[in-house]
Amino acid sequence: YCAATGAFRSLRPAVPLPPPDAPLSLPAFVASLLPSPLPAHPAFLDAATGESLSFPALLSRARALARALLRRGLGRGDVAFVLAPAGLDVPVLYLALLTLGAVVCPANPALTAAEVTHLAALSGASVAFAVSPTAAKLPPGLPAVLLDSDEFRASLQSNEDGEDIASVVVRQSDTAAIQFSSGTTGRVKAAALPHRGFIAMAAGARALFERSSPGRERTLLTAPLFHSMGFAVVLRGVVREQTTVVVTGAVARDGVKGVLAAAERWAVTEITAAPPVVMATVAKDATCSLRALERVMCGGAPLPVSAAERFRRRFPGVDLCMGYGSTEGGGISRMMSREECALMGSAGRISENVEVKIIDTATGKPLGVCQNGELLVRGPAVMSGYVGDDEANAATFDSEGWLKTGDLCYIDQDGFLFVVDRLKELIKYKGYQVPPAELELVLQSLPEVVDAAVMPYPHEEAGQIPIALVVRQPGSKVTEEQVMDHVAKRVAPYKRIRKVLFVDSIPKSPAGKILRRQLTNYVQFGALKT
Ligand code: AMP
Repeated sequence: YCAATGAFRSLRPAVPLPPPDAPLSLPAFVASLLPSPLPAHPAFLDAATGESLSFPALLSRARALARALLRRGLGRGDVAFVLAPAGLDVPVLYLALLTLGAVVCPANPALTAAEVTHLAALSGASVAFAVSPTAAKLPPGLPAVLLDSDEFRASLQSNEDGEDIASVVVRQSDTAAIQFSSGTTGRVKAAALPHRGFIAMAAGARALFERSSPGRERTLLTAPLFHSMGFAVVLRGVVREQTTVVVTGAVARDGVKGVLAAAERWAVTEITAAPPVVMATVAKDATCSLRALERVMCGGAPLPVSAAERFRRRFPGVDLCMGYGSTEGGGISRMMSREECALMGSAGRISENVEVKIIDTATGKPLGVCQNGELLVRGPAVMSGYVGDDEANAATFDSEGWLKTGDLCYIDQDGFLFVVDRLKELIKYKGYQVPPAELELVLQSLPEVVDAAVMPYPHEEAGQIPIALVVRQPGSKVTEEQVMDHVAKRVAPYKRIRKVLFVDSIPKSPAGKILRRQLTNYVQFGALKT
């Protein structure tokens, strides 16, 4: 901690990065980290089918696909919207697009057609990659490539020479990915993440790898491939020469049960997951032995301390490593050693190359050790900004380029970070983002609704569920079921309203902003308690 600047720096040694101005794409950097010859064990394994993809096949298919896409006219800066379920083709596609300097813009395939159309427009996508069942949700007029088509499969195999992908120049400041997040304000936005950020992430993961043993580790990827956590795990798995077991098809449909069964079947040594998976391993009826497991990397939402304690009692030989980060801020903190993992309630220590500040939410002044305030972050993995949204960018970055996380945190005397509360509007259902502002608009489209506010409510399994406070038209008899149904028809399943409370008014500021803190008190101490 530096009292003069109010900034906390990582206690870990800085990981050297390539000079920022040197042209370099993420795939080129990743390839430079891997040994020659490439590892012989699989890079990816499909948890449902057992199909595997070797390191040489991953790189050669990505190159073949990049050539085929270049021939189709795809190039630097083109935004490619990806709407596909998890599968072994997805990392190949990501690598191919990044090789060309095209922007990977993945979205949740569970979204409705209206949601997909909105996001595709927001990102400025000029082409989409989908599978037959998800392609129907794409907006008409957006050219689509089907991952389950013969043509696509053929383009992964071809060895013929096309235009030379080696001549493509990608800068580290170029956008590598656009990921959707509502951040600290309002509705969903398109966060642009540069190659440099992922290069830093890869360099950090590789530095860790130097201390582990190659070829022995199998990591189970339970986070979706369209989410920043899924991205990070794929990247980390490749540069650490692990086998990444991808949760797919029927395994994914079985939810946490499928995840635990896959962990046993494939004898994984590591699981990366949001809290619901960890909670499931210690549920009363859980039977999993997880015999090969050495480590669980958990993040994306808070894990109750009671669940962490139960986990440590049940699996004393397994390290439970908490991590904290966000789509916009990248990986901010994590636990690394066995000793660090033993600390309850913390989200780990500040990651290498990252700087954070804790500020007083009222005055904006930097705070010191053990003081609660909003966490701000600066570092190579922070987004370059929201695409085409100056207002949100002005609200999210301060004048010195620090990104506001919207999380209330403190850092103790030993450098451990604790996430105390969420200041921003965001609801996290099983680790998935549910922006209240989006659901409030859907509720207000119901003619019998005068006003509505959506807020999180604590839930044992999901972490939080979205509930709605609704003001009805005078005399209206619209029911809770009708309101929930109206929303359920218009949003992806994970965003559904799970409870409705009818109220007389929604507390608002003179400027018309919902007073969310006041609502929390109302729900905690009022209506739901009775
Ligand atoms: P996302 O952009 O979807 O990754 O969501 C990021 C947000 O998830 C953070 O700003 C936090 O509010 C929350 N979050 C992520 N990891 C943790 C954690 N370990 N503990 C508490 N909250 C977390």
